[in-house]
Amino acid sequence: MAVKALKRTWSGSLVVGRLPEGCSLCMRGEKLVLFVTGLCAKRCYYCPLSSEKRGRDVVFANERPVASDEDVLSEAREMDAKGTGLTGGDPLLKPQRTLHYVKLLKEVFGPNHHVHLYTTTGKHVDREVLRRLAEAGLDEIRFHPDLASPIGLERIRWASDEGITTGLEVPAVPGMEEALKRLLIEAERLGASFVNINELEMNDENYFQLRLRGFKIKEGSLSGVEGSEELALKLLEWAENELSLNVHYCPSFIKDAYQYRNRLRRKAARLAKAYEEVTSEGLLRKGIVESPSLERLHGLKEALIKLGVDSKLAFLDSSRRVLELPVKVLEEAKRLGLLKDMEAYIVEEYPSFDRREASKTPLN
Ligand code: SF4
Repeated sequence: MAVKALKRTWSGSLVVGRLPEGCSLCMRGEKLVLFVTGLCAKRCYYCPLSSEKRGRDVVFANERPVASDEDVLSEAREMDAKGTGLTGGDPLLKPQRTLHYVKLLKEVFGPNHHVHLYTTTGKHVDREVLRRLAEAGLDEIRFHPDLASPIGLERIRWASDEGITTGLEVPAVPGMEEALKRLLIEAERLGASFVNINELEMNDENYFQLRLRGFKIKEGSLSGVEGSEELALKLLEWAENELSLNVHYCPSFIKDAYQYRNRLRRKAARLAKAYEEVTSEGLLRKGIVESPSLERLHGLKEALIKLGVDSKLAFLDSSRRVLELPVKVLEEAKRLGLLKDMEAYIVEEYPSFDRREASKTPLN
């Protein structure tokens, strides 16, 4: 039995052994999140899926609703994705669609585009579909079994026999220490190469079910459930001495502080126009001037160009009747008295497909 040291990763998560490749890319914000379907045969009481997705056969690439393959590919290109995580629901309730996406991503972005898949241990996950996923180039699979009465764990063996890096993805549910230990032992016996333990999170969707069972959010956290991290640490320390499995603990703050924010930063850096700056949060910041009169906006743009502002830094959106500028240029225009009777704002937008507004502050 290998004895491995418990280490902290650069992001603050903890690992015994090696960090799974899917986690490594995910924390750096380099993975496209491809939500394949909201359908799922399981009814985990802690399921965090939003009502917009749960039980609905919908597809999203990050936050973008998907109507065609091009939506998926555009989203991956915009963030310069190095890999993709196929998630749900249970993507393998739509096996053809899942296979199609694995093939598409490998064909378009090449064999090094790392693809991992989350699924359950249900009967529909048979040897045939695992074989076809392996043929399509799936790199990593993460099974989410029932914690209290896990069935279908032989799928771990089937998947690793196909050459897919295989692991479990489980939440650290307080009170489930013995059940989780049994699961980890079984995962190791069946040839899994890793287990990823998530901090149990409470959100609007699972709030009622978790409160009903006496769980609450720990102090100082937005969503982490009290007692979950302590349990995860216990499991890591135990695994360090008892197992040769790689075990990673992903605290809830990682999703916001690294996974999501790094993804925004990557997208923002690629999408920023000449007059936009990327904030440390990964938002796009710019100045805007609004007026019902296109003529006045034209006049302002011309005046700025005469003052030496590069025309690329003053974009007039005629349909929205908005002139977009760098914040510094907007402030200078205000100082020179060029904005009289026009409304000026500093705006921050998400680098999402719909450029959702994060804030709009009137220029003082
Ligand atoms: S397996 Fe995942 S998607 Fe399905 S109910 Fe459980 S937590 Fe929700």
